[in-house]
Amino acid sequence: MPLRLRRPGTLEFRLERQKTMELKILVLPGDGIGVEVTAEAVRVLKRVAEKFGHDLRLTEGLLGGIAIHKTGTPFPPETERLAQEADATLLGAVGLPEFDNVAPEKRPERGLLALRKALGVYANLRPVKAYTALLDASPLKNDRVEGVDMIIVRELTGGIYYGTPRGISGEGATETAVNTMKYTRAEIERVCRMAFELARKRRRKVTSVDKSNVLEVSQLWRRVVTDVAKDYPDVELDHILVDNCAMQLILNPRRFDVVVTGNVFGDILSDEGAVLAGSIGMLASASVGPKRPSGAYVGLYEPVHGSAPDIAGQGKANPLAAIGSAAAMLEYSFGLAEEAAAVTGAIEKVLNSGRVTADLNPPGQPATTAEVGQAVCEAIG
Ligand code: NAD
Repeated sequence: MPLRLRRPGTLEFRLERQKTMELKILVLPGDGIGVEVTAEAVRVLKRVAEKFGHDLRLTEGLLGGIAIHKTGTPFPPETERLAQEADATLLGAVGLPEFDNVAPEKRPERGLLALRKALGVYANLRPVKAYTALLDASPLKNDRVEGVDMIIVRELTGGIYYGTPRGISGEGATETAVNTMKYTRAEIERVCRMAFELARKRRRKVTSVDKSNVLEVSQLWRRVVTDVAKDYPDVELDHILVDNCAMQLILNPRRFDVVVTGNVFGDILSDEGAVLAGSIGMLASASVGPKRPSGAYVGLYEPVHGSAPDIAGQGKANPLAAIGSAAAMLEYSFGLAEEAAAVTGAIEKVLNSGRVTADLNPPGQPATTAEVGQAVCEAIG
């Protein structure tokens, strides 16, 4: 562990132990505002690397509409190669209006699905944090939302969205549709382990969501999560039925720390959780997969929003969801909790300062995308 001198010439001058990490990151700006917001997220990553002494190795690739224009396909083989080589991928957004009416398999969004599949990311993490400056942006009363800080962990590659048999057959009154909800013990176990690992770095509480009063799949889910919990005696586990969870997210959202659930329940609950935080320009997400030999989790980090063609190229896009996604990357893929906290703390400072983009209704002249990115860097110090 190398030693380095910090802020020489000041009163704070001191010898400090510093662990240098190599951060191999692929940046896929994509389309529309994706390009603008990832530029700011990269600016912030560079500031963090400089401040904490990490070795940032950035590469850039093509995904989505721009990839179709340049290579004829939304997910070029070169992008797949770069993604497999990197420890983590930062994505902007994909989608261009000119592809709105083409067949689904030729659309930019197909590139995103192919990327997720290629990386094998099986857990989707949605941090939901209520920033004080944005309490009024939530449709709930301030006292309900204040202090909310949770992560919803959704299983991403199994469950009813992928189970077979599936399809529609027959006709007339007997025309029938079927989908199959299916999970193996291994699929449940790996996503639950991720939830417990996350909880260890937070308030040490996991809430598992199921429908075990009706579904056999949920009964297995509950048994497996209970078994996994035995390896984490320092983390509290509770179970909640999905219908009650939907209610508690509104009635008492502060009770949740890490919420873990299957694909379809997570899809619905994570959108409900998103509303607690206010603007779409604030919502970050992470999709995390297996561990690399380096110890880093394979991860794909992206804002929840799309390419917003209505404001693209105008410097109006809020970059905080992309910057929040970069913070999630530091924490989940690289285990750099202090660095991640420096970024989320800086986001909070910028929100409190009112130097924000138009979507957050600042009191004075709205800041541009680049000004917000710069302000976050300054707040990191
Ligand atoms: P969108 O999220 O791009 O935009 C919805 C609305 O929110 C727009 O009014 C937009 O101006 C605003 N908005 C979004 N992000 C913002 C930000 N950071 N700052 C300020 N305002 C912001 O959704 P859409 O309009 O339905 O879709 C546009 C394109 O994006 C489509 O091609 C769609 O398929 C694609 N899309 C991609 C992703 C992705 O890449 N993950 C996600 C959703 C939509």
